[in-house]
Amino acid sequence: MKFEDLGLSQPILEAIKDCGYDTPTPIQEKAIPNILMARDVVGLAQTGTGKTAGFTLPMIEILSEGRAKARMPRSLILSPTRELAMQIAENFGTYGKNCKLSKALLIGGSSMDKQIKIMERGADVLIATPGRFIDLFERGNILLNDIKILVIDEADRMLDMGFIPDIEKICSLLPPMRQTLLFSATMAPEIKKLTTRFLSNPKEIEVSPKTSAADTVEQFIVRTSPKSKKYDLEQIIKNEDVRNAFVFCNRKRDVDSLSSWLKNRGYRAQAMHGDMAQSQRSDTLNGFKKGDITLLICSDVAGRGIDVDNVSHVFNYDVPMNADDYVHRIGRTGRAGQTGRAWMMVTKYDDKFLAAVEKLIGNSIKVVDIDGNNSPEAKPSRKEKKTYVNKSNKSSAQKKMPNNKTSSRQKSKSYKDDMADFCGFGDDVPAFFKN
Ligand code: AMP
Repeated sequence: MKFEDLGLSQPILEAIKDCGYDTPTPIQEKAIPNILMARDVVGLAQTGTGKTAGFTLPMIEILSEGRAKARMPRSLILSPTRELAMQIAENFGTYGKNCKLSKALLIGGSSMDKQIKIMERGADVLIATPGRFIDLFERGNILLNDIKILVIDEADRMLDMGFIPDIEKICSLLPPMRQTLLFSATMAPEIKKLTTRFLSNPKEIEVSPKTSAADTVEQFIVRTSPKSKKYDLEQIIKNEDVRNAFVFCNRKRDVDSLSSWLKNRGYRAQAMHGDMAQSQRSDTLNGFKKGDITLLICSDVAGRGIDVDNVSHVFNYDVPMNADDYVHRIGRTGRAGQTGRAWMMVTKYDDKFLAAVEKLIGNSIKVVDIDGNNSPEAKPSRKEKKTYVNKSNKSSAQKKMPNNKTSSRQKSKSYKDDMADFCGFGDDVPAFFKN
């Protein structure tokens, strides 16, 4: 099938051509005609499948018909994270460059006044995180009467972050006569409930088996110990032909320390997590996209939906505590038909989380040593161990690196606290994290 067969008009087809897309992806093939027919849609699709274009292209087509009035947006896209919202806005601009549509990005961490001004001029589409949207609505800055299309993107992530009550609230505030599109990588019972309650006879579209990793990503596990972990990571980075990589840590303090450590060792590494100011997060992401930064050390705030072309590697410095996150993390590589390699550092303390990941993806991940040789035991060689000891004796900065020992205060932090911290909600903190 070609894009020309999907019912999109010439200005949009030209923008697609400029992006270099030849053929629609499966989700685009299935979603676009249904959205253009004004159907509600439930799309079971992961990031990396082209789902953003799957809903933005037909939205641009539909919205091209009219114009927004002041403070009365015509459509709303809800995104769980600021980064994803920014990316959707970017895509909207790219695909809609030949159509005169206006958009407003409503996310925490950015000036509310500017966002209000843009809305006051009239925005065809609002792209928002739920917290900031509710905040602006409650201050009386948005009139919802004209909203004809609602998109709930990454609904499963919304669920993980405790945003479902906010989503329910927003759905209840919007005019009932509207088109609703919901996208999710998995269909948890809470999301199913949401679709039953707020969507009307939706067309269900599924494009990839849930929770499977892309075939284009080769996956490896390296057995390591908390002490030698960072040295093993460095050795793998040296061995592999790393063009650019996401390095995921579970905790933001480890994001900071690992990134400092790698920087000190001469790598173009930069940290990204939810405690950083939004402008800093944006600059870091742009630097990574441009290639100025080659190693992006991050928390799961970057795990979903962040789209950077040609990422060669993903390193799970920590085994994710939430198995779903593994699939999302490694989905940062091997995108749009490219190949990628995903490595995960596993200590004996991680076996429970590793088992959950392997259960979710339905197979065991290949265990190799740090040189990539098949090795079920895969312990660092004695020589390597010795080197590590020597190295750690040399540098006081390395001695300060944290290991897996946590203080009792840190231990008492719950998963919720950690997730809230990772995600850096700022004024978007959902109720889930507050109790
Ligand atoms: P998404 O799943 O929306 O995050 O998109 C994943 C990647 O696929 C992005 O880099 C898009 O630019 C790219 N993409 C989207 N549609 C197509 C297409 N039809 N052909 C090639 N690449 C695409």
